[in-house]
Amino acid sequence: MFDKIRNWRVRRIVARRPIVESLWRDALRRCAPARRLGASDQATLRVLATLFLESKSLEPTKGLHLDDADRVLLAAHACVPILKLGLDWYDGWHSVIVYPDAFIPRRQQMDSAGVVHQTSTVMAGEAWGRGPVIVSWADVLNGEKKPGHNVVIHEMAHKLDMLNGDANGFPPLHRRMDRRVWSKVFSSAWDQLKEEQRNGDELPIDPYALESPAEFFAVASEQFFEGPATLRQHLPDVYRQLEQFYRQHPF
Ligand SMILES: [Zn+2]
Repeated sequence: MFDKIRNWRVRRIVARRPIVESLWRDALRRCAPARRLGASDQATLRVLATLFLESKSLEPTKGLHLDDADRVLLAAHACVPILKLGLDWYDGWHSVIVYPDAFIPRRQQMDSAGVVHQTSTVMAGEAWGRGPVIVSWADVLNGEKKPGHNVVIHEMAHKLDMLNGDANGFPPLHRRMDRRVWSKVFSSAWDQLKEEQRNGDELPIDPYALESPAEFFAVASEQFFEGPATLRQHLPDVYRQLEQFYRQHPF
């Protein structure tokens, strides 16, 4: 994953600012996708989390305080999606802004008729194209209790999606992956869920997935890492595409 010079740099950073064993144990205990990994993958995740804390700025706001354990936990969650991709998939941005609770972004949007609306949606997280990732700390902690939910993984999935332009549910695929297969799999899964929703069935993933293709990818990614068995059972083709994209086999 790392070339020689980076290897040396990485070793230096990890040696100088290691994550203390007790904090790492605590993070593993609280981060289900990390807990499921084998020992060698957990060791890689620990290196990535160390580098993440070194290269990104975690910025609590509105009176929130994050201690070392919180920071390590956040970094562990954030590095799960890039475990087999590498930290450079998070290049081009710097900050993770952490709100104490769900927030309402103060922003105006113009609709197709030219009318400007003040947005009033309460959000658990947000990811900007070249800007920061924003998460609500209450939702990070809540994720431990809500199966299939992980706001940090959700926002990081948007970041990966935006590596090749707008968030549209189409991240840069690896060479051996087929764009047509990806599109077909995700659009037929979309149709399937819409149909289930019309029938009043309980959906196997958070219905927020049906907001847009971008949200579908982010929500499916959360489910892939947090509740892989459910995703594999109900949307096996989506599961397989995510397996190829993330290069991980969580189930
Ligand atoms: Zn989203």
